Amino acid sequence: GVVHRSDELVVPRARVGRVPVGVSSRRLRIVVTGGAGFVGSHLVDRLIERGNDVIVIDNFFTGRKENLVHLFGDHRFELIRHDVVEPILLEVDQIYHLACPASPVHYKYNPVKTIKTNVMGTLNMLGLAKRIGARFLLTSTSEVYGDPLEHPQKETYWGNVNPIGERSCYDEGKRTAETLAMDYHRGAGVEVRIARIFNTYGPRMCLDDGRVVSNFVAQAIRKQPMTVYGDGKQTRSFQYVSDLVNGLMALMDGEHVGPFNLGNPGEFTMLELAEVVKQTIDPSATIEFKPNTADDPHMRKPDISKAKELLNWEPKISLRDGLPRMVSDFRNRILNEDETKGM
Ligand code: NAD
Ligand code: UDP
Ligand code: UDP
Repeated sequence: GVVHRSDELVVPRARVGRVPVGVSSRRLRIVVTGGAGFVGSHLVDRLIERGNDVIVIDNFFTGRKENLVHLFGDHRFELIRHDVVEPILLEVDQIYHLACPASPVHYKYNPVKTIKTNVMGTLNMLGLAKRIGARFLLTSTSEVYGDPLEHPQKETYWGNVNPIGERSCYDEGKRTAETLAMDYHRGAGVEVRIARIFNTYGPRMCLDDGRVVSNFVAQAIRKQPMTVYGDGKQTRSFQYVSDLVNGLMALMDGEHVGPFNLGNPGEFTMLELAEVVKQTIDPSATIEFKPNTADDPHMRKPDISKAKELLNWEPKISLRDGLPRMVSDFRNRILNEDETKGM
């Protein structure tokens, strides 16, 4: 490796990483890669609230400083502009590894970069975890199940993934990241945790990142038709971001490697989602049909029995309760955008 070894400077931390649930007063030092993004910034807020020291690593590909600006000046918070594809030296207790574009529009924009982020980025963070004895959590995805032939999806399902399609840079990238995590766990004794995250929404999502919830909400606010791809009968299960953050922290601080599905089992067709957005934001909202993208999974719904049983976790916020919570954030940002454009 390119990185100079400095193990002799490091206090063994393998035991420090093992934090019992509920022990929150200890000054843990935690890295969050991708911490300037949607999920990462909410996670960082919670860790800082809990009293931890947090270092964010982000290259700002899809993340924004605005998501963290309220923490600038807090002595427990540090922000490093860095690309995880390059090695880095740090001394921490836990690594939450989120860095990776999550929206299909973003991850297809430069697919080779997406693979490098998933493979080399994850390798570097695992190398870091190994050197300093930190615990490592990977945010994998329900996309590892591909276009699933099993429904709902359990963690034991191996998936139905196209290795050469437009989504493969992400799906196969995350599958390789899971493999790397397990090999560092088995081979080098790194304490790893694997979360398979299902579609998540909430404040701070990129306005125009092309994901279905952000698209429909932004479109309804802008009085544009909501774009339904294909026949709109494909399904997804939508989880509110605070539920996910609770799950990630329970997983990191618990004793189980996983993988664990973290998602809300409430399943909706895209037409049903459009209806809920319409009822929440604007009863006069309309829809328009557009051609669907390649390899779009037909259905997706997590079986979360494993997380319920072993992490004592389940989502609390339904789609109808969660959607209104992201609307004011979206309205404000869309208003600001319009003002900047002089409208
Ligand atoms: P996001 O795009 O808002 O955040 C990703 C962050 O990673 C951004 O801040 C981006 O700038 C940063 N990043 C990307 N490449 C990087 C690199 N090479 N080096 C450093 N930083 C880099 O996405 P999100 O929704 O917050 O997703 C966070 C994680 O959760 C991702 O790993 C994603 O795959 C996973 N996930 C999210 C969802 C979801 O529905 N939001 C579902 C499944 C999995
Ligand atoms: N690495 C890193 N920071 C560290 C330790 C390692 O970024 O503190 C990177 C290192 O540059 C390498 C990767 O992690 O590319 C894997 O490291 P490991 O020690 O497992 O493998 P090796 O360096 O022996 O290939
Ligand atoms: N979709 C849609 N309209 C949009 C954006 C997406 O109907 O404006 C559909 C898309 O075809 C897919 C589903 O919504 O079936 C979820 O897409 P998203 O990009 O949010 O996440 P994915 O689960 O595909 O990663």
